[in-house]
Amino acid sequence: MFKLLITIGAIYLLYKLLKNDKKNKATQSGAKSKTVASGEMVKDPICGTFVPKNNDIRVKIGDRVECFCSYECRDKFLKQIENESNTQSQDS
Ligand SMILES: [Zn+2]
Repeated sequence: MFKLLITIGAIYLLYKLLKNDKKNKATQSGAKSKTVASGEMVKDPICGTFVPKNNDIRVKIGDRVECFCSYECRDKFLKQIENESNTQSQDS
């Protein structure tokens, strides 16, 4: 009898967990569609923060446009590009 109760308890807990999981997934996808609706988000290549694509702080490199969360990150990125092009020219 005791064993049966444990089994039922375990199944109940499992069921509850699965239910919560489904709920979480639903709210997550809901939040995702919300951000898409308010504007496309792009990743700040320096710190990894997601920023709106129509952000003011951005840099155009050829056809690519990188967006940044702050001018600090933009400056870091520009320095990084500078360093990369320097090492490339030194190599060749
Ligand atoms: Zn940043």
